[in-house]
Amino acid sequence: MSDPIYRRVIVKLSGEALTGSGDFGIEQATVERLAADLVATARLGVELGVVVGGGNIFRGVEVSERGVPRPVGDTMGMLATVMNCLVLEAAIERAGCEARTLSALAMPAVCEMYNRKRAMKNLGKGRVVLLAAGTGNPFFTTDTTAVLRGAELEAQAVLKATNVDGVYTADPKKDPNAKRYERLSHQEALAKDLRVMDGAAFALARENRMPIIVFSIDEKGAIESVLRGKGRATVVG
Ligand code: UDP
Repeated sequence: MSDPIYRRVIVKLSGEALTGSGDFGIEQATVERLAADLVATARLGVELGVVVGGGNIFRGVEVSERGVPRPVGDTMGMLATVMNCLVLEAAIERAGCEARTLSALAMPAVCEMYNRKRAMKNLGKGRVVLLAAGTGNPFFTTDTTAVLRGAELEAQAVLKATNVDGVYTADPKKDPNAKRYERLSHQEALAKDLRVMDGAAFALARENRMPIIVFSIDEKGAIESVLRGKGRATVVG
């Protein structure tokens, strides 16, 4: 089997990836399947930082529509990402690999605070590093966090897990003629308005020449396949 194409990556999992068949919260069996995939990947010698979203619990914009100030809603969203990281951390450790949650918001009773040196050290020890609480600032997303941490931690790529196996010319769920791109430059994705990530995340990726690999997490072993240059995916970069 071919060797992994990258030595250090950031995997971005949306909060929704943890809901499984439900539409809110966390489905334990799904968390365990994702943890098994991450552990199998770490065992290949790939250093893994994992940014988990919080949309399965709270999204700041949605909370603010109910009259809560947006920064408060965003803080709720960031706290949701911490819960997601903790459940994933526990599952990864149960599956036999060390893991550490590092939070961008200080919560000393819960987990260590994120800082670059600490994250690098943990990655170097082969621990899966769960990057919680997004950037620690309201008005950002966990997509932006993934690219930011990717650049900070010298990752070679951001693997964006979705429920579609790449970037298409149109929405493949609505348009039967939609075609999947194998490869695109950041510039092409922008010019074609393909919205691979939100604007801030994408701008940061383009500026730092960070490849973004969009793939579907629905199949077991998806992360490993992408890293072996196999599974269906679109490479933007
Ligand atoms: N969030 C934030 N700052 C960040 C990252 C996230 O305020 O740096 C908040 C924001 O409200 C966001 C929520 O956390 O809606 C959950 O993150 P995101 O929407 O990126 O999660 P996903 O859609 O990937 O599940």
